[in-house]
Amino acid sequence: MKVARRHFLNLLIIFGFGLIPAVISQFFTEKPTSRHIHIRSFRYGKDPYVIRCNRGDTLKLTFSTDDTGHSFFLEEFDIDVKISPSINEVSVFKTSDPTANPILTKEITLIARHPGIYNYIVSRSNYRCHVWCGPMHAFEQGKLIILPDTLLTFSLGSLIGILFIWLVSIFKNINTKDRISDEKSGYKDLLKGSGFLRGIVISRYTQAALTLITMVMIYIVILTSVFGTKVSGRNLGVLLMWAIWLFALVALITPFFGRFWCTICPLPFFGDLIQRKSFFNPLKGKTKKYNNKFSGLFLKWPEWLKNDWLRLIVFLLLATFSTTLVATPIVSGLAVLMLMIVPTLMSGIWELRSFCRYVCPVSVFVGPFSRMSTLSLRNKSQEVCDQCKPQYCENGNTRGWACPYGLNVGKIRENSDCGLCLECLRSCTYNNVSLYTRPIASENGTRSLSEAWMTMATFTIAIIYSILYLGPWPVVRDYVNILDKQNWGLFGIYSLIMWTLVLIIVPGIVYLLSLFGTRIAKTNYNVRELFLINAGSFLPFSLLNWIAFVIPMLFVNVTFIKQSFSDPFGWGWDFFGTANTPWHQFLPQYIPWFQAIAVLTGLLLSLRNIRKSGIAKGLNPEQILKINLPMCLFLTSVAVAMLFFFTN
Ligand code: SF4
Ligand code: SF4
Ligand code: SF4
Repeated sequence: MKVARRHFLNLLIIFGFGLIPAVISQFFTEKPTSRHIHIRSFRYGKDPYVIRCNRGDTLKLTFSTDDTGHSFFLEEFDIDVKISPSINEVSVFKTSDPTANPILTKEITLIARHPGIYNYIVSRSNYRCHVWCGPMHAFEQGKLIILPDTLLTFSLGSLIGILFIWLVSIFKNINTKDRISDEKSGYKDLLKGSGFLRGIVISRYTQAALTLITMVMIYIVILTSVFGTKVSGRNLGVLLMWAIWLFALVALITPFFGRFWCTICPLPFFGDLIQRKSFFNPLKGKTKKYNNKFSGLFLKWPEWLKNDWLRLIVFLLLATFSTTLVATPIVSGLAVLMLMIVPTLMSGIWELRSFCRYVCPVSVFVGPFSRMSTLSLRNKSQEVCDQCKPQYCENGNTRGWACPYGLNVGKIRENSDCGLCLECLRSCTYNNVSLYTRPIASENGTRSLSEAWMTMATFTIAIIYSILYLGPWPVVRDYVNILDKQNWGLFGIYSLIMWTLVLIIVPGIVYLLSLFGTRIAKTNYNVRELFLINAGSFLPFSLLNWIAFVIPMLFVNVTFIKQSFSDPFGWGWDFFGTANTPWHQFLPQYIPWFQAIAVLTGLLLSLRNIRKSGIAKGLNPEQILKINLPMCLFLTSVAVAMLFFFTN
């Protein structure tokens, strides 16, 4: 109760800090004026890509196109202006009723004012293209900023509130409980006293049923991507992957349920089947040190590859070609097919789930970020594990398979490696394994350099993707356009910049910040130790930036998802009568607010975690402040930049 009250009070303080500049900014509204703006459309952008005006301004807009047909779709103002290269006039449709006869005109007038309360809280709207104009059509957008920017001033004020709370929390009396590194502090046994829930969780049928659903989904993705329409925004496979699955994984599954995706992931299914020769229960027998009979060569994974570097490289390769994957359905489908084939082949050669442990690009995301989750699998009693000789969780028995990730539950201190396959809940005859709920973002730091690099890579990619896909700058998209513009030279530069940022520049910055931290604080931390902690402090901020990135990916595409379910291949079918639903975005006015809240929450949690690391290390408040100050300034600067990016 005390904790809840403290959180509520902190929220009030942050809100208060935000409210003051937001209210003050309302008194600095400039007098409305009239502006004439000509908007040029082209593959893939608008010029100007930013329109800034004052509340109440009259905007007289004219249009032209450099190449093919485009549109100027501004849902918040109920206009969709279709621009054609062959005629001087434009057709103005209503987004609320696209079937109504359009108005033919050369100029439209728009008053920069929203109805009711929205006039004060909505400052940013995106104008998009709603005429398919090429493979990168989905990214053609610009932004209309109506000043004063209430959200920006509110967010920057809130950010100062967060820094204020952070400083106060460093200097207030340190709770001695925080000094004791109780790994299970705040953990609650989810399965305690509930035989029913435990039964459902460990039932192989529950897991098999859920895996069957994801298996069907993955086949739909492959079939519709490969054989369906080439228009990615209308291709069910692309939308299932990059809008629904990505949103669910990033914003729902990983933060709350950790690696639950791995529990029901269809990718290792056939590999497991090849090794186990059984759908469900383990076969009696012995393979190497394991108490289960496994088939295949079952070789040990090479020692020098037992780290995170290989999967990081696979992840970066896919990230480099992300535009091609998203914009070309067949490439997306073939990539997913490869992700089905490779683990299956690998399981015939190497023991257990080698693909999951060392190669899977998805695990680069779900591994580190599962450490933020409110769900974790741990033992109940360390003492029981310490005295356990057979170690069934690791070696298996007739009730459960040997841990496919090579883990011993008695040694698990972090969520990253455990694929939540639930086998140990079945195999531990001492009933010493359970699932726990715990506060969000409970784990700090990183364990190794490869894990640190992986964490920083996901952070950097979130920022790069946001700029690339959500930014208004057409020139940036030209750097990744190897589709219809064949910009291979620019793509080479982009790839070089991306890999250098991920592998050298961001880690280099964090190393320097760690060096400064140790120098100014004069503590017993060494630079490497602080570097690993600082890399881990990215996790909450990084995850929340990913969430800010995926929100529009889903919200903008909701109607297209409905259309595509009704016509999965884009062949003119209409199963559910929704194939021709007019395009509407979901809550477009609120998207920048959700994004700003995500960035601020990430900063709050990251700062909290670096403070906690200092407390656990036994530092005094002054040392905590000094050692964390460089990292705090860096995270705050990035947060300010992202707030400007998402709200202005
Ligand atoms: S590690 Fe990758 S392949 Fe393995 S279960 Fe998780 S997501 Fe699926
Ligand atoms: S989890 Fe169970 S099987 Fe594994 S070490 Fe602990 S007591 Fe033994
Ligand atoms: S520790 Fe248990 S749940 Fe986690 S991967 Fe191993 S067997 Fe599966």
